[in-house]
Amino acid sequence: MNNHTKILLTEDEMPKAWYNIQPDLPEPLPPTLHPGTGQPVGPQDLAPLFAMELIKQEVSQERYIEIPEEVQEVYKLWRPTPLLRAKRLEKLLGTPAKIYYKYEGTSPAGSHKPNTAVPQAYYNMKEGTKRITTETGAGQWGCALSLACSLFHMECKVYMVKVSYFQKPYRRSMMEVYGASVVASPSPDTNAGRMALEADPQSNGSLGLAISEAVEDAAMREDTKYSLGSVLNHVLMHQTVIGQEAKKQMEKADAYPDIVIGCVGGGSNFAGVAFPFVKDKLEGKNIRIVAVEPEACPTLTKGVYHYDFGDTAQLAPIVKMYTLGHTFMPAGIHAGGLRYHGMSPLVSELYDHKIIEAVAVHQVPVFDAAVEFARTEGILPAPESAHAVKVAIDEALACKESGEAKNILFNMSGHGLFDMGAYDAYLAGKLEDYAYPRAKVEEALAHLPNV
Ligand SMILES: *Cc1c(COP(=O)(O)O)cnc(C)c1O
Repeated sequence: MNNHTKILLTEDEMPKAWYNIQPDLPEPLPPTLHPGTGQPVGPQDLAPLFAMELIKQEVSQERYIEIPEEVQEVYKLWRPTPLLRAKRLEKLLGTPAKIYYKYEGTSPAGSHKPNTAVPQAYYNMKEGTKRITTETGAGQWGCALSLACSLFHMECKVYMVKVSYFQKPYRRSMMEVYGASVVASPSPDTNAGRMALEADPQSNGSLGLAISEAVEDAAMREDTKYSLGSVLNHVLMHQTVIGQEAKKQMEKADAYPDIVIGCVGGGSNFAGVAFPFVKDKLEGKNIRIVAVEPEACPTLTKGVYHYDFGDTAQLAPIVKMYTLGHTFMPAGIHAGGLRYHGMSPLVSELYDHKIIEAVAVHQVPVFDAAVEFARTEGILPAPESAHAVKVAIDEALACKESGEAKNILFNMSGHGLFDMGAYDAYLAGKLEDYAYPRAKVEEALAHLPNV
C-alpha cells in the first residue's frame, strides 16, 4: 500500500486494548492533591465525581488495559479511522516529504472525542450512574458526551462556555438532538456560576469556570457523576486507539514517521496519536514528537511546570502540570480553540523531560494552512486541528529546503464544519494574531496554590 491515498484497516484490526504510558514514564507522576487540604487524593476523594473503574485507570500501572466488548462495538460505528496521504498538498508544496494524516473527523461527533466519551459513559452506566455533567468550550466535547450518554441511556447536562453558546448555536442543537440539556456558563444553576455572574454579569465564561459548575453539580447529586474530555490520564489512554491504528497503517504504507505532530488543548488527541510512538522513542527509535499550541494560549511554551488547580473556583483536584494559572481568561479575538489554562500531567512530564517538543503558532497562519489544506485535500479542518496542519506544512517546507524525504504524520483531530464562524472571521480579514503577554502569565502565576 506504499502508494495508496487511503490506508484502511478492517474492524478485526482495531486495537483490543488501550496503551497506558504510565509504567513507561521516566519517573512516576507526582501525586494529585486535594483542593481543600493539599494532601494526596485517594480513590475515595474522587468517588463522588468519577466512576470507580475510571479512577482505577487514572492510577493504573498496567501497560495495556482491555477495551470492553461493548465499547469496541460502539467504536465500530466509525473505527478504525482512515490514514490518508496528503499527495496533493505535497505536490503544491513541492516537498520531497511524505505527509500522512490520521483522520478522526469520521466519528459521529466529527472529532476524536467520542473515543473517550464512549468508555466513560459505559463505565458509568455499568456502575449505576443515571446522569453525567460536563463542560464544553467549542462544543465538540459536549457533542461527544451527549452522543455517548444517549447510546447508554443516561441523562447529560452540559455547561457550555457562554461565548461559544451564542457563537455556535448548531453545536447546542446537536447536543439537544442527542437528548442533552445545555446551559450557558456562567449559569444561575450553580454557586460558582452565580458568583461569577454577580462579579461580572457580562462574563464570557471560560473552560475553568464551566468545569467548576459541572463539578459542583455532580458533587451535589447522588445519581450524578462528572466527566472530563481531556487532561486526565484515563482520557489520554482512551485516545491511544488513534496512534495504535496509525502505527499499523504506517506499516502497511511501508513507512515509519520521522515526525509525529498533534495540536494540544488539554493534550488528549496529541497523546492519542503520539504515545504509542513515544513508547518506541523511549525504546531507542529516532523520532521527533511535536505538540502545537496557539500563541494566544501558550501553556507549554510560556507556562510554568507547577501544581495548579484544574478550574477557576478551585474545586477540582490540584495537579502538577504546565499552566498559565487557573485565573487565565482567553482573549476574545482568539478563534482557534485550544484555550485551556493547563496541560495534561502526562504530556507535561514528557515535555519537561524533553521527550517531546512544543511549538506555539499564530492564528492567521493557522487559518492560512487550513485553507491551503482544504483546497488541496478537500477536508475542512477544525481550527484546532489546523494548528497541526500548519506545523506539518512547515516541516514539509523544511524538507524542501534540506532535500530530505521525511515521513511526516499528523493527527487531523476533527473537521471544522461547525466552526464556520471562525472561518467567516478569517475570510473577512477580521482575525488578528495575538500573543498572550508574558506579564499576564507572571501575574496569573502569583495565584498558584502554595504546595
Ligand atoms: C477538543 C479538541 C481538541 C483539543 O483537545 P485535546 O484534548 O488537546 O485533544 C483538538 N481538536 C479537536 C477537533 C477537538 O475537538
